[in-house]
Amino acid sequence: MSEIHKFLFDGLPVRGVLVRLTDAWREVLRRRAANTRHGAYPLPLQNLLGEMTAAAVLMQSNIKFDGSLVLQVFGDGPVKLAVVEVQSDFGLRATATVNGALPDTATLSQMVNVGNGGRCAITLDPATRQPGQQPYQGVVPLFGDPHEKLEKFSDLLQHYMLQSEQLDTTLVLAADDQLAAGLLIQRLPLQGIDNLAGRSTRANEDEIGNNEDYRRIALLAASLKREELLTLDADAVLRRLFWQEKLLRFEPLQGAGGPHFSCTCSRQRVAKMILGLGAEEAASVLQERPDVEVGCDFCGAQYRFDAVDVAQLFKQNTPQPPGDTTLH
Ligand SMILES: [Zn+2]
Repeated sequence: MSEIHKFLFDGLPVRGVLVRLTDAWREVLRRRAANTRHGAYPLPLQNLLGEMTAAAVLMQSNIKFDGSLVLQVFGDGPVKLAVVEVQSDFGLRATATVNGALPDTATLSQMVNVGNGGRCAITLDPATRQPGQQPYQGVVPLFGDPHEKLEKFSDLLQHYMLQSEQLDTTLVLAADDQLAAGLLIQRLPLQGIDNLAGRSTRANEDEIGNNEDYRRIALLAASLKREELLTLDADAVLRRLFWQEKLLRFEPLQGAGGPHFSCTCSRQRVAKMILGLGAEEAASVLQERPDVEVGCDFCGAQYRFDAVDVAQLFKQNTPQPPGDTTLH
């Protein structure tokens, strides 16, 4: 079961979130692998998309926001786009496009940042957006400084969070074909989230990179190895890292209230589309191929309607002749 574990360090201005995506992540991969046009993701892209998915869930769980959080990487290499969307209820979907084969050893920059043109965008789209209101979007390049390309997706997000939220953040991310997982440790602003007054902003600036408690806990978090994150359960990870700290843990979010796969596509929606084409158009498609096939761009699911399905669809949906008042 996919889970989110939130915790605080008692008495210290530090909080954390640990995310483990099992069934939700496997469903992302299952849909892609079953797609006859694209097939399964190459290994390094699978792992990048998994890390992005874990990161997007961490970020969504770390903000109070009603709407979708979209994490996108626009690549200038073989991977053109990788995108993850997480709703406030932790419904998630993810997809990526790649041209040609990728070697198993491909690094982040070899995938998406060959000519320093790669970008990452973080978009917050409120559920109740007013007409004309733009979603919030932050864009970050894929290098720390112009001479140093980033090779870890977690480094990129750490930079972004420090710049956008003025908060020290440490992220550890890992993914394979079974699990996408991540740990986030963040320093809390001393005056709470309303510290917009000049003095407390100043105090926060002085604290960036300087808070002793945060630095100690961040070092512990950064010592977590990829293999540990992928093989230990949540309790074991937190015990291994923070056994000397006093953790206050919240009830984990799992099951219906936790992260789960969710895409708006369905066989029913595709059926409506085919009905929209009209019987003649659908029949002409079926003359050239064995079925009408519609793929979802957001999750890779493919829906197929063969001649029998299509015939039934139009038969069930034949408009009733005028005067026929029979209830069906
Ligand atoms: Zn879909």
